[in-house]
Amino acid sequence: MVRLLILGGTAEAAALARAVAGRAEIITSLAGRAGVPDLPGRVRVGGFGGAAGLEAFLRAEAVDAVIDATHPFAARISAHAEAACQAAAVARLVLARRQWRRDADDRWILVDSVAEAAARLPEIGRRAFLTVGAGDVAGFTDVRGVWFLVRLLQERRQPLAACAVITGRPPFTVEAEEALMRAHGIDVLVTKASGGDATYAKIEAARRLGLAVLMIRRPPPPAGETVETIAAALGWLENLTLDSL
Ligand code: NAP
Repeated sequence: MVRLLILGGTAEAAALARAVAGRAEIITSLAGRAGVPDLPGRVRVGGFGGAAGLEAFLRAEAVDAVIDATHPFAARISAHAEAACQAAAVARLVLARRQWRRDADDRWILVDSVAEAAARLPEIGRRAFLTVGAGDVAGFTDVRGVWFLVRLLQERRQPLAACAVITGRPPFTVEAEEALMRAHGIDVLVTKASGGDATYAKIEAARRLGLAVLMIRRPPPPAGETVETIAAALGWLENLTLDSL
C-alpha cells in the first residue's frame, strides 16, 4: 500500500483522509493551531523544521506520496513541500480550493496583503466583519475608527480594542450570514480570497446586502500538479498505485 502524507489543517484535508482510508497508509500532518480532529490513519502535529526537516521526515517514514491540502494562504509549508519532495524524489499533488469568481453585483476591493487591507479599511467602512482567521487579526490592531465583528474558530478575549468576538466553524448558510451582518450593522466584509464552498456564503450574503468586500488576494499557488476535488486526488493516487505495481 502507498504510504501517503497529507499536509492538512483544512476541512478538505480531513475529507481527503476519510476518502483515502483503506486505499493508502495515511499520515496527516497538522501545524496544530486549531485542535486535532479525529482522522483515520496516523496524525502528527507540529512543524517539521523547514524544508530540510520535512525532507528528513519523508525519508525516515518512507513516504511514497504527498498531497498538499493546506490552506491557500499557507504558502510557507507548500513551498517547503515542493522543495522537500523534489529533494527526496517523492510524488506530490496539490489539492487546491476553487477560486471564487466575481459576480457582476459584487463590490470587491482587492488588496495584496493584510497590511494593505488594514490601511484601506477606514476609507471603506465603519463596521467590519473580520473573517481573516486568528493568525491575522492582530494585523488590524492599529486601525482607528472602525468597529469589528471578529469571527474565530476558538474563543479569544478582546483581540482588538473595539470589537465583539463570535466563534463559528464552516460551512455557514447564506441566510445566517446575511442575518448576522444585518444584526451587527456591518458595512464591510474583510476576508481572504480563500475560495472553496465552505465559506462562500458570506460572499453571497454581502452581495445580497450590497456591502463592500475587502478581499486579500491569494499568494501565488504552489507549483506542480494541482487538482480541485477529492475525486481527482483519489484518481491521482490510484494512478500512482498502478504505476508502482
Ligand atoms: P505557513 O505560514 O505556510 O507555515 C508556517 C509553518 O508552520 C511552516 O513552515 C511549518 O513549520 C508549519 N506548518 C504549517 N502547516 C503545517 C502542517 N500541515 N504540518 C506541519 N507543519 C506545518 O502556514 P500558516 O498559514 O501558519 O497555516 C498553518 C496551518 O493552518 C496550515 O496547515 C494550514 O493548512 C492551516 N490553515 C491556515 C490558514 C491561513 O489562513 N493561513 C487558514 C486555515 C487553516 P516548519 O517550517 O517547522 O515545518
